[in-house]
Formats: sequence, structure tokens, C-alpha cells
Amino acid sequence: MSGAFIVPAKQVQPGTQLVCDGGFTCLADGQQVTVQASRGGSLYVPCDCGQHDLEGQLDMAGENYIGFMLAGDA
Ligand SMILES: [Zn+2]
Repeated sequence: MSGAFIVPAKQVQPGTQLVCDGGFTCLADGQQVTVQASRGGSLYVPCDCGQHDLEGQLDMAGENYIGFMLAGDA
């Protein structure tokens, strides 16, 4: 439906399934990943480099993660 790789941060929590776009060196284009919470409570997805911190994918407003879509929307 959306087609855009952008997900409102408030819709993402541990266990959320996300699909990656092709902009990652450590994740395959279209790869599906499950959001995890670190011990400190920050969110990440497992990737080839270990843990990919979702905070680094936030847009300027801090409201959306760029480079992912919800698996249900893919
Ligand atoms: Zn990574």
C-alpha cells in the first residue's frame, strides 16, 4: 500500500517485523528482521554487523525510521 520504506517509530516495538530496503550494507534488500530490545532498552535489529541500532535510522524529527517498512505492508 505505502510502498515507501518509512515506519512511524511509535508502531515499532520488540517483536515487530520489519522489511529492509536496499540501503544497508549489512542487511539484504527485502530482508525481514525482528526488532529486539537491548539490555539498555534501545531498539535494534540483528544484522551482519551484529546489532543495527534503530535510533540511527530515525528521521530528523525523530518520528519515523527510514529504510524499513512494516512486514505487513510489504
Ligand atoms: Zn548493521
